[in-house]
Amino acid sequence: MSASNKQATPHLGGVLQNYIGGRFVDSGQHFANVNPVDGSEINKVSEATLSLVDEAVVAAKAALAGEWGQLSDNERSVLMHKVADGIEARFDEFVAAEMADTGKSLWQASNIDIPRGAANFRVFADLAKARSGECFKTDTADGQQALNYSVNKPLGVVAVIAPWNLPLLLLTWKLAPAMAVGNAVIAKPSEDTPATATLLAEVMHEAGVPAGAFNLVHGFGPNSAGEFLSQHSGIDAVTFTGESGTGSAIMKAAADNVKALSFELGGKNAAIIFDDADFEAAVAGTAKSVFTNGGQVCLCTERVYVQRSIFDKFVAALKEKAEALRIDWPEDASTDMGPLISHKHQQKVLSYYQLAKEEGATFITGGGVPSFGDKRDQGAFVEPTIITGLPETARCIKEEVFGPICHIAPFDTEAEAVAMANDSEYGLAATVWTTNLQRAHRVAPQMETGIVWVNTWYLRDLRTPFGGVKLSGIGREGGAHSLSFYSEPMNICIKLN
Ligand code: NAD
Repeated sequence: MSASNKQATPHLGGVLQNYIGGRFVDSGQHFANVNPVDGSEINKVSEATLSLVDEAVVAAKAALAGEWGQLSDNERSVLMHKVADGIEARFDEFVAAEMADTGKSLWQASNIDIPRGAANFRVFADLAKARSGECFKTDTADGQQALNYSVNKPLGVVAVIAPWNLPLLLLTWKLAPAMAVGNAVIAKPSEDTPATATLLAEVMHEAGVPAGAFNLVHGFGPNSAGEFLSQHSGIDAVTFTGESGTGSAIMKAAADNVKALSFELGGKNAAIIFDDADFEAAVAGTAKSVFTNGGQVCLCTERVYVQRSIFDKFVAALKEKAEALRIDWPEDASTDMGPLISHKHQQKVLSYYQLAKEEGATFITGGGVPSFGDKRDQGAFVEPTIITGLPETARCIKEEVFGPICHIAPFDTEAEAVAMANDSEYGLAATVWTTNLQRAHRVAPQMETGIVWVNTWYLRDLRTPFGGVKLSGIGREGGAHSLSFYSEPMNICIKLN
């Protein structure tokens, strides 16, 4: 095992290292990080062993007991802004690394993913600094008086386990508030997308974040870094974004020492389009919600319910939008959709296209792999796909595909639309398109989801509660909800007389 204070080289051909206690560490055990466009190897990644995870926990605890634990809210806030500055200063490197790892388009990486990575630090740096505690003057029945106040303490060591679809955005969405309120974190990015997390370790280092406050371990889930973190008795909380089944496995692993858990899990999100909707806006918004990032955003729509009087017109218009999408190299500025994250995921999505055929779906468009006649044919591309005609009990209606596909079904009444949208084990997000104000207010709160968008999609204010119900998660993050999850309020009662 070697350790060095030199910068890691998270670019083409490097070995992406772990970052523990302020040092880059190579376990000597490597796995390949593959480009989804052509299957070529971008980097080797150093897989964290159990003993490295132990070292990260020791380093995190030392940080809490040392310099990091002594910082004031204001000092932490200044550091978090410096981290945001560091991301912005190396913006192009972050964009290139995110595109290479995920195949996402230049537009998506440079307008959504990387700016949100920096914004996550800025927003929580400001919110954490401005937070106040509670204070009560207490009079008891027997004449005693006391001052009761609360102080917010960090939870301790927080493990952040992230998925591959929005790698930097989702990792920082959790670690920024966790660090802003004073926790020491151990981040584990997805094995498919280790690059921007490694760049972030460099940025933390350059910003002067005290050793051990931010640690990074690379690896997989079972029998690897993910499971080591979930089971570790030295870790106080696990905050996780990923599949619902993985959430369940983490919950079991974390049960023995009763860790605090925050889970943002899968979805099978519905859109309802009423016949009084602004038709063009509903078509454009639905196309965006189905096909953004190749359908690989947890908030993407996979079920569309359209009022019968506009059903045929809507299906035709959405087909036109899907077929107009430019599928190409991620780095081309006019690309709408790059390849999927990996060939493994491409096979999963294609297996759902096949299942839809077997279940009797009508394919309005797509259903296969685009043919380019060049190197792109080796990439993990799939066609944007629209299907109709499945019964609501079909597996393609029930299970999350996490690809660029939606099923469109007609409805007649508002009550029927609400019932169909809610008939899911998942409950992350829903979208409602209507110009009727009363209807919007009537329908939105009936959705069994954590988030409802009316006449828009994916419009985010980072202060709002974010999360899902049912299989889509437990807890809420965002704004004060994040600060609350990552803190332990402590009551101090002082007798005054
Ligand atoms: P995943 O669950 O396969 O992996 C996520 C992370 O968990 C990875 O870092 C992985 O290595 C780790 N992991 C896997 N098994 C583990 C285990 N047994 N113990 C500990 N860690 C383990 O998810 P994914 O395929 O990377 O991401 C796609 C999923 O994430 C989809 O279901 C999507 O809906 C969901 N997602 C949800 C949200 C949300 O905010 N609700 C956001 C993005 C993605």
